[in-house]
Amino acid sequence: MPIQVLPEQLVNQIAAGEVVERPAAVAKELVENSLDAGAHHVEVDAEQGGLARIQVRDDGRGIARGELALALTRHATSKIASLDDLEHVRSLGFRGEALPSILSVSRLALVSRTAADEHGWRLYGEGTLAGSPEPAAHAPGTTVEVRDLFFNTPARRKFMRAESTEFRHLDQALRRIALARFDTALTLRHGARKVFELPAAAGATGQAQRVAQLTDPEFLDNALELDESRLGLRLSGWIALPSFSRGQPDLQHFYVNGRPVRDKLVGHALRRAYADALHGSRYPAFVLYLECDPARVDVNVHPAKVEVRFRDSSVVHDFIFGAVHLALRRVRPDPSSHHQVHVDRETGEIQPQDSFRYGGAGGAAPGPGSWRTSAKSPGPGAAPPAIAEPRSDDMPLGHALAQLNGIFILAQNREGLVLVDMHAAHERVLYERMKRALREGGIASQVLLVPAVVTVPEDVAEEAERARERLHRLGLELDRSGPTTLTVRAVPPLLAQSDLGALVKSLLGAAADDESRGHFSEVLDAQERVLADMACRAAVRSGRQLTLPEMDALLRDMERTDLAGQCNHGRPTWVQFTHGELDRFFLRGR
Ligand code: ADP
Ligand code: MG
Repeated sequence: MPIQVLPEQLVNQIAAGEVVERPAAVAKELVENSLDAGAHHVEVDAEQGGLARIQVRDDGRGIARGELALALTRHATSKIASLDDLEHVRSLGFRGEALPSILSVSRLALVSRTAADEHGWRLYGEGTLAGSPEPAAHAPGTTVEVRDLFFNTPARRKFMRAESTEFRHLDQALRRIALARFDTALTLRHGARKVFELPAAAGATGQAQRVAQLTDPEFLDNALELDESRLGLRLSGWIALPSFSRGQPDLQHFYVNGRPVRDKLVGHALRRAYADALHGSRYPAFVLYLECDPARVDVNVHPAKVEVRFRDSSVVHDFIFGAVHLALRRVRPDPSSHHQVHVDRETGEIQPQDSFRYGGAGGAAPGPGSWRTSAKSPGPGAAPPAIAEPRSDDMPLGHALAQLNGIFILAQNREGLVLVDMHAAHERVLYERMKRALREGGIASQVLLVPAVVTVPEDVAEEAERARERLHRLGLELDRSGPTTLTVRAVPPLLAQSDLGALVKSLLGAAADDESRGHFSEVLDAQERVLADMACRAAVRSGRQLTLPEMDALLRDMERTDLAGQCNHGRPTWVQFTHGELDRFFLRGR
């Protein structure tokens, strides 16, 4: 074949392959155009998942008759005129590609009226533009109606999923946009069904209502509000407490200058910020807005503009990480909002708040059933609980009353009864303490009276030799004393009583990982994993009897410890039964 210039419609269809993947992308592009046009009200109607019809109507500034055909022409845009404009772009669109791409694969009607027009003008096309503008009734603003998407590209049409799936994508795409534009009212209908109708959200209450409506009604109750500015960057929004983690990454919204993005760098920063508090298989929930000078971010790196590139990426990474990490660590026990337990009025069953989002991959966490009260007698070996004089001062976690089954601490505080998982809580306290020691120069170690000889596989022994220095900083002194033997000479005092063989093996397993990676933050991750492992081994074991002063000391430690509400895997370390709930449970005051 000789080289030839492709016909315009084919060029547009090729572009459409990237820009309009599915109905959701059409809806997103059209709504973004409405927002760029300054609309206050946007109404979206979809039929059959958007495959049969998508209509977007707005009250924006409209398109003048003379420019209607241009709006449907490739590389024609009113949003930029020069490279400099591109580098400072604030609008969502700028390529002039969406409308011609959509037209090339659908039957499209564009009706628009500017404030200066007496009436609207309508242009129509099937694959390509047919005819010239005709008068049409329309209020100031624009309506774009897209029918029979991919009617002329059967191969693409075959890739479309069930209508319900396509609609789900469309719905999500619009929710994502709606979370970024509180000032715009947005309605979505699917066939005859109204899916959502969002009024313009004024003030904090309105915004909170919209967030609750679009994400999870309980998200905000379990989230921290964030607003940090530094170095010309501002990060605001909401981050969920680790205990509100999810089985899928389905509540993660990140915006850069109002544009929803999925960015690797951002993802990494957030994952690291939550790493300490979340089990590897859980996902944090957040709605976050990053604002910066548009010149610092390149938005022209992805066909659908869902990725961006920051010019000073490490600054942005560290800023996001720092802001989120710090906010999470500042959380201190707050009995009035923490993991309260609810008594079901009908059945009398005690249930943790719904915000205990377990299930999914988490698995091991308590289901509602495990909170049911039962009149089981204590097991044969259990010591009678010690009864303490109730005191009523202001310690958030109150004062220990007794220990239950060697697992839980019962304490009394102002709000009512506190139940603490003693191992999980102690583990967190120790972990944070060791991390601090490591930051401040290294973990102290205690020389063993009798060095312990541990037999390990040869590669582990080699690894130990190589990691000697690093282990030393972690408070562990050991030498290789044979091809498969290690002599442990000193350990952190807390670990003196542990099974040193198992400890060394698991620590070296974790240390081996960090050797193979090398990236600084990954090395830190690995070190923290080692500490987490040490903390778990050193924490009080179930079954151990604690005295009341020991229990109180643990409660005070928790109050002082970062992230004390979650164990190192993000599970709660304590729950609160309020007086009200206890009364309700015993049907008092009815
Ligand atoms: P882009 O948004 O990248 O400029 P589009 O193909 O999406 O490209 O739109 C082309 C042009 O049509 C826009 O630059 C804008 O001037 C005009 N336009 C599109 N939709 C609307 C709308 N809803 N209201 C006003 N003008 C619009
Ligand atoms: Mg556009």
